[in-house]
Amino acid sequence: MNQVHGDKVEVVSQYSDVDPTCDALVTTNPDLSLAVMVADCIPLLLISDAVAGAVHVGRAGLVNGIANHTIEVMRNLGARNIHAVLGPSICGKCYEVPIQLQAQVSAIHPDSYSTTRHSTPALDLQAGLVAQLISQDISFEASTVCTMENSLYFSHRRDNPTGRFVGVVKI
Ligand SMILES: [Zn+2]
Repeated sequence: MNQVHGDKVEVVSQYSDVDPTCDALVTTNPDLSLAVMVADCIPLLLISDAVAGAVHVGRAGLVNGIANHTIEVMRNLGARNIHAVLGPSICGKCYEVPIQLQAQVSAIHPDSYSTTRHSTPALDLQAGLVAQLISQDISFEASTVCTMENSLYFSHRRDNPTGRFVGVVKI
């Protein structure tokens, strides 16, 4: 998908040469694999027996509720017992932000409030997203790898320009 930090969820039923502009893909087609590309943002993969979803969750996505939108779309398509996998992303000790931004995001998602090792304002996107998933009654497993601290992964904060790594999900 052509990711734009928006809140649009696209349901796809077959392969297309045109990349949909959205930040979440959902399918009920077991022959399709869905991919999300990231470098510090969270690659969120949602799995159930009948529906799969791949979601790009950055700071904007945490605020606009893209994960919840995707879960709603999946449930409307018949998904039961959705399980979430959160791939490597930038951690709450590394994702330094201006204090106004920290206040703005943590007002909506208190669990995302964080500070760096130097006690400057930061956000923990994964903690914020996990709280959202728990409120939706979604089971999850989350990577403990920080992309900025681990050179095996691309990190937009550490190296710009950089590449992207990909989370893939299939029913
Ligand atoms: Zn880190």
